[in-house]
Amino acid sequence: MAQVNIASVANALVVGGGIGGMATAISLAERGVAVDLIDVDPEWRVYGAGITITGPTLRAYRQLGMLDAIKAQGAVTTTTRFFRYDGTPMFDLDEPVIEEGLPATGGIMRPVLHRIMQARVQELKLPVRLGLTVTALVNRDSRVDGGVAGGVDVTFSDGTTGRYDLVVGADSISSAVRDIAFPHMGPALPTGQGCWRISMAKPPGLEMSEFFLGHGNPCGITPCAADQIYMWMLTPHEPRKDHFTPQELFDRLKGLLADFGGNAGWIRDNMTMDDWINYRPLAAALQPAPWYQGRIVLVGDAAHATTPHLASGAGMAVESGIVLAEELERADTLEAGLAAYQARRFDRCRDIIETSVAVGQLQLEHGPPEEHGQMLERAFTRLIEPF
Ligand SMILES: Cc1cc2nc3c(=O)[nH]c(=O)nc-3n(C[C@H](O)[C@H](O)[C@H](O)COP(=O)(O)OP(=O)(O)OC[C@H]3O[C@@H](n4cnc5c(N)ncnc54)[C@H](O)[C@@H]3O)c2cc1C
Repeated sequence: MAQVNIASVANALVVGGGIGGMATAISLAERGVAVDLIDVDPEWRVYGAGITITGPTLRAYRQLGMLDAIKAQGAVTTTTRFFRYDGTPMFDLDEPVIEEGLPATGGIMRPVLHRIMQARVQELKLPVRLGLTVTALVNRDSRVDGGVAGGVDVTFSDGTTGRYDLVVGADSISSAVRDIAFPHMGPALPTGQGCWRISMAKPPGLEMSEFFLGHGNPCGITPCAADQIYMWMLTPHEPRKDHFTPQELFDRLKGLLADFGGNAGWIRDNMTMDDWINYRPLAAALQPAPWYQGRIVLVGDAAHATTPHLASGAGMAVESGIVLAEELERADTLEAGLAAYQARRFDRCRDIIETSVAVGQLQLEHGPPEEHGQMLERAFTRLIEPF
């Protein structure tokens, strides 16, 4: 691919090869930027959970050319079925289709989604270096640095160095790039809830996504492939209990499902120690503007980490990667491109984070389920607006 300058960006370093980092790297490379991608994980893995892919997230993936692969290797649906927590059927909800040819919603295993994105990174022949992070970033401005061309001087954790026109911090909620270059930002804050997840074989009776209502611990099941699902449950977080042994994870989740019927009950009765089970305390942060300093910019959870209540964190990360590349392509200067990126993303991400955290707070306070439903519905209506 011919190398071109978009907003004076000929080359870029993307730190973090997760969902947001790969979306950014692909979107920049498709516009002719020479992108290097690094990830701290020597094996570039992702943990074995499933992930819900909402309509807006599918729309963003369609823009990356990955919709068909997600449809083929994940599971898509138009309807979610609601039950009382004991398994009594309540109603079916037809999810709105937001664009012609786009499924309403879906799910996929995270490792499968990563392989789809990694395949595109490899197809674009982007250099990927693993087991590597950054230890120092210095913005050089040609106006003040004695006429030397502007750029970011990067020191990598293996002692090597490089210079890039743009550095993108896509290294997630505990971002090292953020710690190094954005002193006005801080860590994500705990919300008081935790999320239990299990990935396992599909219950024989499950036909579509399911939600279980009326229990203090909200719970749902999302198909992720023809024969696989993941189930999630939100609970109040027990302070000082972040890490469980595999046996504790198994026993606790089984216990938490004691009151549940239907397919949630089936999962309780059929789960095994071989299934992937995880507990994660939830945290969120909308980092204060600016999301860029000189030639360094943040995307994804590094800038806008949310909780799973709207199942939109990954979608926001993909959208941010696309918008960053679009705005740099459109702008005359890097500064203008980065400002336009932030302007297009800030309020949308704020809305997702504030709504998700507010719904979690209502759940902790045992607020009326109708109020949760209305908050989520209104947020989804806003989410389907073009990004
Ligand atoms: C419990 C839970 C459930 C969720 N469920 C959903 C859902 O159903 N749907 C949805 O859309 N979103 C969901 N999310 C949110 C979603 O997972 C994140 O918003 C999304 O993964 C963010 O993408 P990212 O690229 O910023 O970070 P990640 O996808 O986490 O990728 C970060 C990458 O950076 C690498 N890295 C980390 N530190 C460094 C470093 N210092 N140097 C170099 N590389 C580094 C990591 O190895 C990783 O590869 C959920 C989140 C949680 C916590």
